[in-house]
Amino acid sequence: MAIRILADEVVSQIAAGEVIERPASVVKELIENAIDANASVILIRTEDAGKRLIEITDNGCGIHPDELEKAVMRHATSKLRNAEDLFHIQTLGFRGEALAATGSVSRMSITTCTADNENGCTITVEGGKVTGVHAIGTKQGTTVRVADLFYNVPARLKFLKSDITERNQTETLISRYALAYPHIRWQSYHDGKPGIRTSGNGDYREVLAAIYGVDTAKQLLEINLEEESLRVFGFISPVALTRSNRREMNYFINGRWVQDIQLNSAVIRAYQTLIMVGRFPIAALFLSMEPEEVDVNVHPSKAEVRFRSPDRVFSAVHRAVRRGLIAQSPVPEISSPVQWPNWHPLNPQPASGSGQIDPAWQMSGEAKAIPLWRPNSAETVLPVQYHQTNGKDSADQGNHPESVLSMVSPDFPILRWIGQIGGTYIIAEGPDGLYLIDQHAAHERILFEKLLNQAASEAVAQSLLDPALVQLPAWQASLLEENLEVLKKLGFHIEPFGPSAFRVLAIPALFTKGNPEAAIRSVVEDFEEDETPLQSEIESRIAGRVCKRMAVKAGQPLSEEEQRALIRDLENCQSPRTCPHGRPTMIHLSINLLERQFGRKGTI
Ligand code: ADP
Ligand code: MG
Repeated sequence: MAIRILADEVVSQIAAGEVIERPASVVKELIENAIDANASVILIRTEDAGKRLIEITDNGCGIHPDELEKAVMRHATSKLRNAEDLFHIQTLGFRGEALAATGSVSRMSITTCTADNENGCTITVEGGKVTGVHAIGTKQGTTVRVADLFYNVPARLKFLKSDITERNQTETLISRYALAYPHIRWQSYHDGKPGIRTSGNGDYREVLAAIYGVDTAKQLLEINLEEESLRVFGFISPVALTRSNRREMNYFINGRWVQDIQLNSAVIRAYQTLIMVGRFPIAALFLSMEPEEVDVNVHPSKAEVRFRSPDRVFSAVHRAVRRGLIAQSPVPEISSPVQWPNWHPLNPQPASGSGQIDPAWQMSGEAKAIPLWRPNSAETVLPVQYHQTNGKDSADQGNHPESVLSMVSPDFPILRWIGQIGGTYIIAEGPDGLYLIDQHAAHERILFEKLLNQAASEAVAQSLLDPALVQLPAWQASLLEENLEVLKKLGFHIEPFGPSAFRVLAIPALFTKGNPEAAIRSVVEDFEEDETPLQSEIESRIAGRVCKRMAVKAGQPLSEEEQRALIRDLENCQSPRTCPHGRPTMIHLSINLLERQFGRKGTI
């Protein structure tokens, strides 16, 4: 094929592709323009998740009628004069691309009026071509309407995710900006339904409450660290408040939301040993530094930046967060909930004054030899083999059996309770040796099967005397709303109660001891982005999540009676050997293995 210079139209579309990927990208660019125009009020409306319409109105400085045609041209900006300026950028925009890019992939109109002009002006653009400019009476400020996004790039449309996902992306983005600009009054509507709404009074906690609900917002810790020209200010969650993914860790550099893996790891490191592995904090951190200290011209969407002294930035963030956590004393260290007695193989009596001694430890004489095993050797500790017999354990694949019969599983031994170690593992004896049962994993399995069993036989829901109120971030609220029917089947009666808020009227009788709010949150928290489980899987997935949250935790004290009951209940499970997420509930140390370990038989 001969080399050709691409037509302008193609060039525009290629460029647009870098900036405008989905409805949320349009919203981002238009919001940034409104902020750069010094708006104090920004209203956002979308229809059909932004595919049919995105409309953003601000009360900022407006665009002069003589400049309106220029504003929609490529590389046209009022924010940059020369290449040198690129290194002192104080505005969110500077590439002069967004309006041109948006106009080339939609039907766009801009209506705007400046303070010193009596009349406003409207321009219409369709697929990158200006189709009309005329004067119009309007207030100061700008309204950009973007209709039929990607109408001329059908391939792009096909790449969009479900409406829920696209709407969530947009709303999440708006809430980030609302947080970064609390002096602006924000309001969003999606298909006429209100999203976020803030008053613009500059109060961060108010915005945090609008996003996370009052309860969560109240718990967040404010941090502030100033070092020469670098400031780290923001809000982080206390160690007791965590999430299952990094989505609620947000960073703003000089008012710009950025994604940065290293900032994430600086924060996560500050929480290390304080929260469980696999859980993540909430963080909204605002970093201010001289514009020269950060290069924002790294990526067309401006969501990535480069720091001039990255180490200084990361260590300041790490310190600010760590200090904030330490200041909130006492900090419970949950990395080692287990208090091991001060034990020596040659002196099996726990040293006096060693502090906490697990009663179960003292009680189970035989178990004292346990530390002589070499837990690092792969051969010594064998997870119980996972037997798949006549369709059993199918719940682990997600499609739980129609009715889980309560019966003693033929391949599951009858166990005799012996004791407990580490406040976490129940020791039991079976016909062929020793079993260590992980109390959390086992309880998870038990609850899971009970819950699904009940659901199959019209769950017994227990009404709450005092209905619990749960407020969620917008993206989670829509997820929960989608699953209300499934939850009802499982015994959770939940009804919408204002924007992004819900009332929990009843919960499965199984969980009456637990916290209904935690159960509801667990349903929506662990859904990863764009995760759309098959309809047939949803019920067991949700049940799995809820049970994980409601199950007893490692280190949570259980009475002897409770431990015995746990073993009994596990024996009655259809798939007793794994938790609903596939981890083993127990480890088996066979007599054979013990004999080899003690040199009574063969070699190790
Ligand atoms: P950039 O923001 O990088 O300059 P854009 O294409 O987003 O490029 O916008 C082009 C220009 O149009 C801006 O530089 C600004 O002068 C003007 N403009 C865009 N949106 C607004 C708005 N909401 N209010 C006032 N001026 C605006
Ligand atoms: Mg812009």
